[in-house]
Order: sequence, then C-alpha cells, then structure tokens
Amino acid sequence: MKTIPLWIGGKAVAAAATRNAPVTNPSTGAVSAQVPLCDAADIDRAVQSARAAYAGWRDTPPVRRARVLQQFLQLLQANQKELARLASEEHGKTLPDAMGSVQRGIEVVEFACGIPHLLKGEYAASVGTGVDVHTLRQPLGVCVGITPFNFPAMVPLWMFPMAIACGNTFILKPSEKVPSCSMKMAELFTAAGLPDGVLNVVHGDKVAVDALIAHADVAAVSFVGSTPIARTIYETCAKHGKRVQALGGAKNHAVVMPDADIDFAAESLVGAAFGSAGERCMAISVAVAVGEVAEPLVAAIRAKAEKIPVGPSDADGVEMGPLVTAAHRDRVSGYVDKGVAEGATLVLDGRGFKVASHPDGFYLGPSLFDQVSTGMSIYRDEIFGPVLCVLRVNSLDEAMAMINANPYGNGTAIFTTSGEAARRFEQEIQVGMVGVNVPIPVPASFFSFGGWKASLFGDLHAYGPEAVSFYTRGKVITSRWPHQESKATGLNMPTLG
Ligand code: NAD
Repeated sequence: MKTIPLWIGGKAVAAAATRNAPVTNPSTGAVSAQVPLCDAADIDRAVQSARAAYAGWRDTPPVRRARVLQQFLQLLQANQKELARLASEEHGKTLPDAMGSVQRGIEVVEFACGIPHLLKGEYAASVGTGVDVHTLRQPLGVCVGITPFNFPAMVPLWMFPMAIACGNTFILKPSEKVPSCSMKMAELFTAAGLPDGVLNVVHGDKVAVDALIAHADVAAVSFVGSTPIARTIYETCAKHGKRVQALGGAKNHAVVMPDADIDFAAESLVGAAFGSAGERCMAISVAVAVGEVAEPLVAAIRAKAEKIPVGPSDADGVEMGPLVTAAHRDRVSGYVDKGVAEGATLVLDGRGFKVASHPDGFYLGPSLFDQVSTGMSIYRDEIFGPVLCVLRVNSLDEAMAMINANPYGNGTAIFTTSGEAARRFEQEIQVGMVGVNVPIPVPASFFSFGGWKASLFGDLHAYGPEAVSFYTRGKVITSRWPHQESKATGLNMPTLG
C-alpha cells in the first residue's frame, strides 16, 4: 500500500507520525493509499522549514517572485489534466467538472502573477511643509492553509499562490481525504524554481490542525471547511493572536420568479444542485418558487434530474459521480429519510442507487423534495449532497425574508426577466455572492470570494485583492529630511502643515 509523503524543505519526506488514514476511490470503493496523520513533531518540522525560508523569500523582489509564479502557471496548465485526474479519483467528481475546477484555481495564479503591481503603496507629497507620506504592504511570515475535501486543487490554489506572491512562506494542510493534488502542486511549484521551504504540505486531522493553529511561529491561518470547525478555528486563532479567515458551510437559495424562463431556470438549478453530487459550497440546495412558477418548475427540474447519468467519475458520458465516502453517502441518504418523516413531498428518490459495474462505489441518485418548510432539518442543515429542496412562497418579499433569516450567507441567485426584481434582490439580500440568472456566482479571480454570516468568520475574503490585504500588513511612513528651517515638535502633539 502506497503511503503519501509530506512535502517539507522542497522534497517529499516520510512523516514521523504512526497514525494513518485510508484514501479511497469513491467510484470503486477501493483504498488507493494511506495518508499519515501528522503529530505535533511533524508540524513543527514543517513550521521550522517555512520559518527558515522566510527571510530570503520576503527579501526576494516581487518581480522575481512573479517570475516563479509565471513558471508555476505554465506547469499547472501543462499538468491540468493530471491534477483533474487526481481530484476526480480521490473526490469522485467527473473529469470535465474537475478540469473546470482546476481551471478556476489556475486563474488565481494568473492574478497572483501581477503581484508587483498589487503590492504598490500610496504616496502623498507635502502633507506638511517638507513632510511626505508613503505606505508599504509587508508579508506576515509563516502562513497556514487548511482546506476541505470538495475542491482538492482549487481551494488550496485560492490560498498559497497569493500568500507566497506576497512574500510569505506557507504550510498547506489539505483534507486527508484528497491529499494528492496538493502534493503534485508542491512538486510543480518547486520545479518552477520556488526556493525550498517556501511551500510545505502536511497531512492530518484535528491533531495536525490544533498543532498548526497553536504554533508560536505561525502568523496567519486561512481555513475553508464546515461551519462548526470554521467557528472554532476562528476563535482559537484569535485567542492565539493570529490573523484568521475561516470560510464555512452554506445553504444557498435560488429564487425563481413567475416571469423567469422556466426551462433555463430548471436547467441551471439541476446543474447547480446535482453537479459534483451537490458537494460544492456554492451548490444550490434550496429553490424558492415564487407564486405560480412552482408546479411547472418542479416538473421541469424532475424531468431533467431523473435523466442525469450517474456513474464512475472517469466514465464517458457520466455527469454525476459518487459521494466522497460511504459514511457521507449514508449521512446524505439519512437526510432523505428525515425529509420524508418530516412530511416533505419526495418527488425524486435517489436512495439505494447502484452502479452494477461498481457495486462498492459510494453512489446516490439525485433527490428532489417539494413542499419543504423552514422548520424541517432538510432545510435547516447543510446536507452537502445531491438533494434539492423546493419551498413555495407568494412574493419576492417573502423569498428575501426567508433567505435573510437563514444563518448562512454564502451564495444566492435570482432567476427573473425583471430588472426591478433583480436590482432589489441584489441590494437587499444578506449574502456575500449573488447571481442574477447565474446559479453559481463564484467571483472571477480578480475579485474576492467570501460569504456572510455563518459562511465566513473574519473580515477579508479569499483570493483576489482582499487576499493581498489578508496576507500583508500595512505600514505608513511619514518622513521629513531637513534640519534646516523646521523644528522638532517637542512634547506637543505633532501637527502637519
Ligand atoms: P471539514 O470542516 O470536515 O474539514 C475541513 C478541514 O478541517 C480538513 O482539512 C479537515 O482535515 C480539518 N478538520 C476536520 N475536523 C477537524 C477538527 N475537529 N478540528 C480541526 N480541523 C478539522 O469540511 P469538509 O467535509 O472537508 O468539507 C466540506 C465543508 O466545507 C462543507 O461544509 C462546505 O460547505 C465547506 N466549504 C466551504 C467553502 C467556502 O468557500 N465557504 C468552500 C468549500 C467547502
């Protein structure tokens, strides 16, 4: 059985830890490798490597850092298929879906290549007589990224390219369910000319994460995962005086107005609810049908969803693969049981779905519930699987009140042909990322990604310009060069001018 190594000091090294976890192929159910679950000693080794590399990388001019990123970008492009294959094999998403997600990660590196421009400061001449002010943005030190299972390449790429472009060194702790993309990317970045120790990869569970976020030499933590863990990470990092951004879970609503193009809305919702087997933080898990649109909308979604080809992630023509683990498949299936017990109408039942050629894979078919209400657990909880709930309301006001009362605020969408409805929705909805006739409004890499409320703990969003703010500290320098005419201010508060 292959054991996945760590990446420390620019090379693959064995972990000292003795605990391991299996890595499975969800399409077949077979264990493909073991991943070590690092202990505090392994984590310290990675932190010391990142710490030793920091001064040299910090002092490397941004334009030279950008040249290494440009080489990395080329290697990522050349290896996009391989990264997609690894993501698909360990996660279970289809190959075309995995290609798309790797592409969205690569776009962050494209943005990071502009780092010399992004780090430029401000300058104001003569704020007082002979007094000038300028600003600097300086890196933080050793930064940490902790990532979820559902985007094995893309979410790590939200973090380490921007942190490293800013002059930090980095330790990535990917989900122990999908370790291989991170290892491949560290290998590629090293081949691109990244100095040893600037990017390190460790593996593990709570033990590794606890050691990372308590380590005295770690300056900042970026986390993406479920809400309860995001909240704990945020609180613990704050207690240890670390800068932190912790992106959490979601319950994303799409409002369908009576004037919407029903076929277009249904097609969009089916893609957004069942793509990647619903294991996306921006998946639409709730459709809010306004007025008379409900009946035809549910019929159209059902007609499309029941035709989705479900099967092994690498098979031609398959559009929905398995869930990530057997335990997660059973949890999602359990929610379908709960929805039935709670009184929702099960229009399409994905439970018990089998692929004859792959009897041990972790499959479920798409499930569709109608007549769901806000008190039901299938509405309240993040299911993170191929289950779409339809709630019926009478007006846009009612739809917006429901979304604004929901504790999550990651993404949302409205389907309408009315500019007035779309504008009101855009202005008044309490959610961080909003789509107008766009079901999964993941911002382009030159904007930033982040939800509101229980979907993000912290102030700054991931990638894009906000990542430059997150991974640097600002400094303001006020300078004066004459000793000629002006006088020092003595004990009084200095005034300008
Ligand atoms: P998870 O919270 O179980 O795990 C995330 C990371 O935390 C992993 O690296 C894991 O090893 C680590 N971890 C697990 N248990 C821990 C513990 N007790 N203490 C410390 N660390 C721990 O999430 P997941 O199941 O891997 O991913 C799915 C979740 O991630 C969903 O809730 C999804 O909505 C969310 N997600 C959010 C975004 C976003 O941008 N908001 C993006 C992708 C996924």
